[in-house]
Amino acid sequence: MAASHKNITTDEVRTAVENAYNKLRTTTGGKNADYIPYLASIDPNLFGICVCLLDGTIVSVGDADHIFGIESVSKVPTAILAMREYGALDILEKVGADATGLPFNSIMALLLEKDRPSSPLVNAGAIAACSLVEPVGNADEKWKAIVNNIAELTGREPQVIEELYKSESATDFNNRSIAWLLKDYGRIYDDPDLSLDLYTRQCSLGITAHDLAIMGATIANDGYNPVTNKQVFDADLAPKVTSMITTVGFYERTGDWLYKSGLPAKSGVGGGVLGVMPGMFGIAAFSPPLDDAGNSVKAQLALREIMAELGLNIFAASRLCVCGCQGASAR
Ligand code: GLN
Repeated sequence: MAASHKNITTDEVRTAVENAYNKLRTTTGGKNADYIPYLASIDPNLFGICVCLLDGTIVSVGDADHIFGIESVSKVPTAILAMREYGALDILEKVGADATGLPFNSIMALLLEKDRPSSPLVNAGAIAACSLVEPVGNADEKWKAIVNNIAELTGREPQVIEELYKSESATDFNNRSIAWLLKDYGRIYDDPDLSLDLYTRQCSLGITAHDLAIMGATIANDGYNPVTNKQVFDADLAPKVTSMITTVGFYERTGDWLYKSGLPAKSGVGGGVLGVMPGMFGIAAFSPPLDDAGNSVKAQLALREIMAELGLNIFAASRLCVCGCQGASAR
């Protein structure tokens, strides 16, 4: 099994999570996504946080077990699935691993790149990743593979929120353009409509902050799910996935987010955010109102509070050392 959290205690995490929750519970700001009509109808006051430590300990508060639309967070597990099937290098060649600096559904990003869709964590790359899922040409089997992969990463098989799927399918005109532009560039590897439908369906899966924290912990733990005690994917893929989350997880706001939080994290317009602290924990927060880039306002605040209270930052040496010396702070 991979490294466990050496210098962070469950009590510290519990206190930080509870403090963040209590501080932010009544905070308002942002607005539910409404370009997918179903999402506009979700209670904006829902709020939950969950952390999964690498020994499988779960710390959760609020609506951590509420089921909501996974949306763009689904891009992470399907990137992992494509990497499991094709290998990290092939995914780099076929899809890419670059930041776009542009909104998640940008057609401009693809036009500028004129080649690979940049990253499986933006819409163009996620549709390409769905096209790659084996067995190519068989929508039912591809779908099973997508759902099974999420079930392995979280320990729970997610179900489609049918109303969300209908709502999203009826309004996905921009994504249809992306799918067919990928076809024009030779960068979609299955039928464009089939690939787009899989992408839309995976975005409509119901997930919880609890599920996402376990998924984050599995990535933070070199592919080993600490709750189900199963090696889900090859350890070598974990840093590749985390690098993608780091570079583009908040789209055009990714740099600002990293600068403020020090946490690789991926957002979805359903209000969920999945964070990965390698070697330490997976963390997730859920609150539907979003900023203008489509990232949950309160989930961002919660994760920032927790990271700051724990004194953690992926770019800072203090507390990251696992030899027991407590890093620079001990000198
Ligand atoms: N399904 C949504 C879309 O394609 C996902 C976007 C997101 O969560 N950022 O527009």
